[in-house]
Amino acid sequence: MTDVTIVAVDGPAGSGKSSVSKHVARALGYGYLDTGAAYRALAWHVLEQGADTADAAAVQAAASDFPYSISLDPDRYWVRVGAADVTTAIREPRVSAAVSAVARIPAVREQVNDVFRALAAASNRPGVVIEGRDITTVVAPDAPVRILLTAAPEVRAARRAAELVDQDAAVVATALHRRDAADAAVVDFLTAAEGVEVVDSTELDFAQTVDAVLGVVHQKLEAPHGR
Ligand code: C5P
Repeated sequence: MTDVTIVAVDGPAGSGKSSVSKHVARALGYGYLDTGAAYRALAWHVLEQGADTADAAAVQAAASDFPYSISLDPDRYWVRVGAADVTTAIREPRVSAAVSAVARIPAVREQVNDVFRALAAASNRPGVVIEGRDITTVVAPDAPVRILLTAAPEVRAARRAAELVDQDAAVVATALHRRDAADAAVVDFLTAAEGVEVVDSTELDFAQTVDAVLGVVHQKLEAPHGR
């Protein structure tokens, strides 16, 4: 990822990662890459084929023929599989429930990580905010800005429930904690790796969280040697 400045943002579900990263990208004139969307789109693709997302061989077969595309424009976000626009469909509870099984397959992770690096390198922007679970550690460990965005579990569950207004809050909280537990077995996204700045949004509103992240970005990019 040569000339493109990478801002790597990791964190659990409901930390505000996606909306904050999108807003930060807009403020910086950068692209925005939602890596969770690739895992979700692959889970959607497997479900559409009528295959079992718990069957690693079936998932790998689906991944080998996966016509996935995503927009890096924070103002025009879309996700496609072939000609199908799956931007909304990949947020459905059936996909959220299936995605962790897809994401735990090492060969799948390697494949999508290559796609993420290529997408960021090919963006026509000075930088890209990449958000996910393993961006600071695996996808872009050399990024000049690496941030772990956290929030207390009950705050994350409440935020997610507020987004998914048509679903029962207790059901949303249970699903979120179950997905966190499954994901944490694959990638440790709750502990900051060395050199990663923690932004805890538990007590912050959206604007304050964006400001905190932008503060880290400016501090890292303006300091000599990125310190
Ligand atoms: O970020 P989001 O909640 O949309 O991610 C969906 C799923 O994709 C996560 O629950 C996790 O299983 C997987 N994921 C991952 N590594 C990433 C991003 C997402 O394993 N970098």
